[in-house]
Amino acid sequence: MKIRIANLRAGLSEDAGRLLPKAARRIGLKPGQIEHMAILREAVDARKKAEIRLVYTVELTLKGGVKPPLGIIDKDPQVSVVPEEKQTPLLRGNQPLARRPVVVGAGPCGYFAAVKLAEAGFKPILLERGYDVDRRAADVDRFWETGELKLDSNVQFGEGGAGTFSDGKLTTRTHDLRINEVFQWLAEAGAPQEILYKAKPHVGTDVLRQVVRNLRQRLQALGGQVFFGALVEELILENSALGRRVAGLRLAPGVELTDTGSAKAGLPLSGTPQSGLELASDLVIIAIGHSARDTAKNLYAQEVAMEAKPFAIGVRVEHPQALIDRAQYGEFAGHERLGVADYNLHTKLAEAGRTVFSFCMCPGGEVVAAASEEGGVVTNGMSAYARDTGVANSALVASVHPGDYPTPGPLGGADFQRIWEQKAFALGGGDYRAPAQTVGDFLADQKGDLADALVQPTYRPGVTAANLRDCLPKEVGEALAAGLADFGRKLQGFDLPKAILTGVETRTSAPWRINRDESLQSLGIEGLYPGGEGAGYAGGIVSAAVDGLRLAEAIIATYRLMER
Ligand code: FAD
Repeated sequence: MKIRIANLRAGLSEDAGRLLPKAARRIGLKPGQIEHMAILREAVDARKKAEIRLVYTVELTLKGGVKPPLGIIDKDPQVSVVPEEKQTPLLRGNQPLARRPVVVGAGPCGYFAAVKLAEAGFKPILLERGYDVDRRAADVDRFWETGELKLDSNVQFGEGGAGTFSDGKLTTRTHDLRINEVFQWLAEAGAPQEILYKAKPHVGTDVLRQVVRNLRQRLQALGGQVFFGALVEELILENSALGRRVAGLRLAPGVELTDTGSAKAGLPLSGTPQSGLELASDLVIIAIGHSARDTAKNLYAQEVAMEAKPFAIGVRVEHPQALIDRAQYGEFAGHERLGVADYNLHTKLAEAGRTVFSFCMCPGGEVVAAASEEGGVVTNGMSAYARDTGVANSALVASVHPGDYPTPGPLGGADFQRIWEQKAFALGGGDYRAPAQTVGDFLADQKGDLADALVQPTYRPGVTAANLRDCLPKEVGEALAAGLADFGRKLQGFDLPKAILTGVETRTSAPWRINRDESLQSLGIEGLYPGGEGAGYAGGIVSAAVDGLRLAEAIIATYRLMER
């Protein structure tokens, strides 16, 4: 018998070993009657700063024949009997599939889709424009040191996708049972086991890289293949009774499909690398992320159904981590059971019709140069598992919508992003240094200098003092100023004049959506499954991975691979 207990509260100084006796007592049993206790969730309740508590949900497996005293479960609304798990078998389809499915993009959406397909025997082919995570990390380091940007190997592009150089935060607003599968796979691939129960789990960029390597090995062991340096240029489409259907993909000229040593023998390839290889397939998952503007443009030119969507732009804000810890945890700041504090702030500016919010907060992290196009500066944030740089950073962004974009059509948001990224590039000095400013100078709308800042800006390859309002739309600058004042009231010290801002943050989510129907296929194109953040169906690592699983399940439920 299994019993679940929610809202089990413990003081910060309470020994972790006391949790089991406490849980047993709650249901009228002795510790010796419990076979196993699993922590399902651990959260911090810091609403009362003088009385911070850890709050647990645990699941107790009772020893054979043991039952709690009669009535004790019914009396306590936080206690329940866990129903017997019934595994719903994965639906399997019968429609014959002559050729292996192809997944484009090795981010969380693409990797989770590919592994799921591989587990069902589909032997997917995964194509990634960037390189394996080790070669990619070296390219990114070089960019941060020298400003030498590689267009297909950077913070946005390469194995692991956009979140590889991140905090690896696994929080999500998605409510989908597939989340458990995502966490389980990540833990099996080397993520810390605590992600299975922490209320705000995170992996850190250092551990995430190992997780990505292990996911690749899992895929290859199941008969999947991964090719790097494999930029997909466009779809090969045929007319069909329902409109059009996918017949394969055309790779960019120069792509050889040999990078990982995966055998290309036997792949249904035609053409030459010089003119662009063609790979035949009837099923393509397109999981290209939010920064593949070139690919999105090509898809739109092929009349794939797309539309512009809202997103958010702004800057990164940096504070000493100790300031955030103090504001959130008061006298308990720095307590080992609490770790470093984060925050999540938002405000609606009714008159301006915009929302200002913090986003992708990275405790103990650094601001990263996240450009993927020449002549543009893009900021983002990351941290290692230890979160120990002593500097807290977060995006501070305002919502923007298609009415703000300079051009009509689905790609107007990308044109909008590019304008502000290029202005930031020019303001920074034209060598990928980023413009930076103190909060006080930003509020006063003046350039100022960075002397006596609360922290040294962490962005590499460096910053240039500038007025960030010059690389933001006027309304966004005004909205951020209003947001800063509001957040200063909500989190003490947030708007201190010597806190640091670095800009611009433009890649918060995709500015377009690739529309799909209820079968999860692209509108009017049979066999094309757009997914993840680049299709507008995810907003982070976990939701992108969940969407990948969803696409794979839809394929598995319809087809059976009959490859000769
Ligand atoms: P992506 O991860 O973007 O992957 C798409 C992949 O497709 C890329 O590897 C790209 O190279 C490849 N590709 C694109 N076009 C082609 C093509 N034509 N041919 C072949 N390959 C192609 N989210 C969180 O939940 N937590 C965080 O802590 C977090 N931190 C972040 C920090 C940074 C610096 C960044 C940039 C993002 C962060 N995110 C975070 C967001 C998260 O990374 C994304 O939501 C997520 O990666 C989206 O997954 P995806 O698979 O849909 O797309």
